[in-house]
Order: sequence, then C-alpha cells, then structure tokens
Amino acid sequence: MREILQPELSQRTTLRLGGTAIAELIVESEEDCNALPERIHSLGGRPLILGAGSNILACNGRLPLVLVRPVFTNGPEIVADDGDKVFVRVGAGLPLPRLLRFCQEHALSGLEGLVGIPGSVGGAVAMNAGSFGVETCEKLASIHVLIEGSLQRVNADALQYGYRRLSIAGKKDESIVVEATFSLTRGTRDGITSCMRHNFLKKKSRQPVTSWSAGCVFKNPAPDMPAGKLLDLAGFKGKKRGGMAFSAMHANFLINEGNGDADAALSLLHDAREAVRQRFDIELEPEVRIVPWRSF
Ligand SMILES: Cc1cc2nc3c(=O)[nH]c(=O)nc-3n(C[C@H](O)[C@H](O)[C@H](O)COP(=O)(O)OP(=O)(O)OC[C@H]3O[C@@H](n4cnc5c(N)ncnc54)[C@H](O)[C@@H]3O)c2cc1C
Repeated sequence: MREILQPELSQRTTLRLGGTAIAELIVESEEDCNALPERIHSLGGRPLILGAGSNILACNGRLPLVLVRPVFTNGPEIVADDGDKVFVRVGAGLPLPRLLRFCQEHALSGLEGLVGIPGSVGGAVAMNAGSFGVETCEKLASIHVLIEGSLQRVNADALQYGYRRLSIAGKKDESIVVEATFSLTRGTRDGITSCMRHNFLKKKSRQPVTSWSAGCVFKNPAPDMPAGKLLDLAGFKGKKRGGMAFSAMHANFLINEGNGDADAALSLLHDAREAVRQRFDIELEPEVRIVPWRSF
C-alpha cells in the first residue's frame, strides 16, 4: 500500500483549508484493503476516507487523522444490458464528471442531474449527492464496499439512504465504497447532452462553481425552505471574515477567498447558524463534513 506521511488537507480539499494529518494511505487493490485495518491501527489515528475532498471542511493544526484514499479507477464499463436497463460499473476513485461523460457518449440516461458535482464516484455514493431532483443512490444497482476489513457486494435494496446520507449495514461513515454499479436507461445522445447542458448552465448561473468552496455548507431544512434563503434573510449573504465569505451569489456557499482559514470558517458558520436560529427558530445542520468533527 502506498503511504504519504504528514499530508496537507489544504492540498486535498476544494475549500483549500486544513492542517496536517498523520498519514495518507492509498488503497488500490484487494490486498491493500486487507492490510488497511492493521495499518490504520499501527499509525494510531482515526481514519478519514477521502474522495475528491469536495465536501470537507478540515480543521487547522496537527490532526489525529489517517487519510484513506480509495483510488479504484476501473471503468466505467457496461456490464449488462437487459433491453430495459443498462448496468454500468465504475471504480469509486473515478471523478463523477468522467462517469457523466461516459453516460453522454453512450446515450445512457439517469444521472443528468448530477452534472457539475465535482466529487469522486465513491464520494457521491457516500454523500448520496444530488441535484435537479436526482440522487446518486436511487440510481444504484449495487456497490462493492469494504466493511470491517472484508469486501462485500451490497445490493441497492439493502442500502439505507436519505438526504445527503448513506448508511451501509447500519454503519455510517465506516465502510469504504470501492465500486458502484448504476442502473440506467437508454436515451438519445442529443437529449442527454442538452439536459446536461441545461442543468450545468443553470448551476453556473446560480452558484459560484469556480470559487474555492465545498458546495452548500448547510442542509436545506425542508425542500421548500432552502438554507441559502434563510442565510440571506438573516443577513449572511456576502458576509466575510478572515479570508472566508458566504458567497454574494449563493448564500449557502462558503468560499475561501484565497487566504482563509478553518477557524474563521467555523466562526462564520457558528454565527450564521445562531442568527437563523434566533430569527426563524430553525436549527441548520451542516452538509459539509467537518473533520475531525468539532461542534461550532
Ligand atoms: C462547486 C461545488 C458544487 C457542488 N454541488 C453539489 C450538488 O449539487 N449536490 C451535492 O450533493 N453536492 C454538491 N457538492 C458537494 C460535493 O461535491 C459532493 O458531496 C460530492 O459527492 C463529494 O464527493 P467527494 O469525492 O469530493 O467526497 P469527499 O469530500 O472526499 O468526502 C465526502 C464524504 O464522503 C466520504 N467518502 C468519500 N469517498 C468515499 C468512499 N469511497 N467510500 C466511503 N466514503 C467516502 C468521506 O469520508 C466524507 O464523509 C458540490 C461541491 C462543490 C465544490
């Protein structure tokens, strides 16, 4: 198993924040999977599975974390076609945009709503990433996961998932997604391309997609109550502190303006959540994963 000592979280997350972990373990084979539990134990930190780091807010300083990076990049490939459904298998380490490109090229429909989400396939499954009415996990046929040191295939009907969460065999945050098989339908290449294009342009017109961010930082309390609107009404749109800012374009995007740090980010999140609580009596829950977990 390849290993990097003292990896910087700021270089591994799209928010470009965070200190130094103990080590990073790069997992790319079944052999690595088998050796993983013992190596994590001997390094002595808490494991953090890391995909593309696009939903992570990492804290400052020396962090008691061992980063586990599954870089299975097989596929995407069509593994079955029953005339009605087409099954596409893909490694968890592959970028989600690459899978979407494959779908577009092969006229496979189902994932068009996920366009513009910058994570890995494994991260999209683990977060049940979604947009434009599509959620990753509802399109799954099965996944391969490493659960407590053993590689297992789990069918979609045995997964428990909801809004930005997935729990496999009741074990939230502990299983490593290694591979996913999606169940898609045949469409037309032109139809899929135009739907993706439409979704992407809409996303780009509403969200600061090129800034350093982790996407939406708070979950929407209800489908008809976007966190961004509550933050805007509470006066946090465009609010800045210590190199961090709530975007002036979309109040639920926290942005690193270039020299931001994690303490400033957490203090802004704290104040925003308090303001929304006081004004609307609503408790905002973070969508971004704060690592190591720290209440704010
Ligand atoms: C500009 C921008 C736009 C975004 N838009 C959206 C959007 O529209 N909808 C949306 O849902 N999200 C959005 N996001 C957030 C983010 O891209 C998604 O949550 C994405 O799915 C995270 O994938 P990742 O590989 O980056 O995961 P990471 O950020 O690396 O990890 C996120 C979580 O998943 C876990 N994880 C990662 N890989 C695995 C694995 N292989 N096995 C098990 N657990 C794993 C991690 O431990 C962590 O808890 C956006 C982010 C940005 C920066």
